[in-house]
Amino acid sequence: FLASLAALESPATAPAPHRVQSRPTETLVARTTGFANEPDTDPALAANRTWGSEILARVPGSTQGVDTIGEARVESEVALDSIVDDAVSAAPGWAALGGAGRAAILRRAAVELGARRAALIEVAASETGKTLAEGDVEVSEAVDFANYYASLAEELDHVDGAVYTAPTLVVVTPPWNFPVAIPTGSTVAALAAGASVVIKPAGQAKRCGAVLVEALWAAGVPRDVLKLVDVDEGDLGKRLVSHPAVDRVILTGAFETAELFRSWRPDLPLLAETSGKNAIVVTPSADLDLAASDLIKSAFGHAGQKCSAASLGILVGSVATSERFRRQLVDAASTMRVGLPSDPTTQMGPIVEPAAGKLHWALTELDPGESWLVKPRQLDETGRLWSPGIRVGIAPGSRFHRTEFFGPVLGLMAASSLDEAIDLQNATDFGLTAGLHTLDRVELATWLDRVEAGNLYVNRGITGAIVRRQPFGGWKRSAVGAGSKAGGPDYLVHLGSWAPAALAP
Ligand code: GLU
Repeated sequence: FLASLAALESPATAPAPHRVQSRPTETLVARTTGFANEPDTDPALAANRTWGSEILARVPGSTQGVDTIGEARVESEVALDSIVDDAVSAAPGWAALGGAGRAAILRRAAVELGARRAALIEVAASETGKTLAEGDVEVSEAVDFANYYASLAEELDHVDGAVYTAPTLVVVTPPWNFPVAIPTGSTVAALAAGASVVIKPAGQAKRCGAVLVEALWAAGVPRDVLKLVDVDEGDLGKRLVSHPAVDRVILTGAFETAELFRSWRPDLPLLAETSGKNAIVVTPSADLDLAASDLIKSAFGHAGQKCSAASLGILVGSVATSERFRRQLVDAASTMRVGLPSDPTTQMGPIVEPAAGKLHWALTELDPGESWLVKPRQLDETGRLWSPGIRVGIAPGSRFHRTEFFGPVLGLMAASSLDEAIDLQNATDFGLTAGLHTLDRVELATWLDRVEAGNLYVNRGITGAIVRRQPFGGWKRSAVGAGSKAGGPDYLVHLGSWAPAALAP
């Protein structure tokens, strides 16, 4: 706190080697509950802005994690099988540490991850185009996962009347869109449960995986208990996922990927968070200024590349025809600064790969009856920089209504009543996040009763679930397997198996 005051008072002379803390109250929360969410970096403090610009300056040529991921390259089935064997052999020793023993190491992992905040932001920006702020919240979430699952591991030691058997080997296949938080969460959960882990980072975010594995090793997770493998998604990927020694696979990715994994091994015990097609309903009783801002943030954060993103705004009654509301959305979308993450003024970064397939369609073409409120523009030759788009006139059951696109395009639908809006919100194969903007309690109760999604958000954006406060996971095709929510109390429970104490050997 004193450091932050000093930074405010003399920004020109303050040294800026690392970010400064600005929320001392978090310490109090930690004392009263045993777990506190890690605060994000506060950009209002001058020292933190200097810290951030030093990170951004390194992004274009970043080589964080290169050596580790180089060593993790696996080219043959023999080499892969031997990695799996080593991990299996190491598992009993790890499980024998007990929940408390593993928790102590995972709490150190939280510290090591926090100590690599700058490196993780840098490599996330470099590999996936995340802005500084987007990378920063990921590191906070990763630290939260380590601390939170550590406390759940301790609880595993104290369950009366039941004996918990840890899984032996868990394979983690994370996505590129949250290249720090999600691989950390899945890995730390499996470690907390007592398993060895083989993690295969997403092809687009390998070095993020390397840096976070380095942090976990530095904390004392043995190298045979946590293995990093870089395999191609063809035969060796298939071998890893369907290897008979694997007890469970934690996947975050497309629903189709979960189906592919199941086709490789039909009895595969999968814990998967999959696709979403999420909408925010806005009623005439809403605070429309807030609704417009939350819709824009939820649609275009990380260029719409979140399972949780708002892909649809469903506007009830007069909201659909409100010229003022429409103007707010147009102004916000068309003035957004799109650019590279190395530029501190960038608000929306590039998409991870050149737009192709269904995303290219969603950015460039319309179905009958649809029109552009804001037409997306391709901003450079790479095919990765697009300005955000808003399309209107989306018909119920149409392609845009039902398809996940994973990019910076929002569709607006009109509904004549709240009931009709909820029908439209539910009428997809998915059920991950859902939002409602209203100040009317009766509308809220109706919506809560009928909406079909794992994470419900009222009068706020629908992305950015916070560990423990908002366990994250979906319904329908947004989850495959046990459906346990990441960052929630049952996640570890579903990784292992339970027997009544009397039956246990
Ligand atoms: N947990 C993230 C959020 O709440 C979304 C994760 C994802 O997109 O896979 O926004």
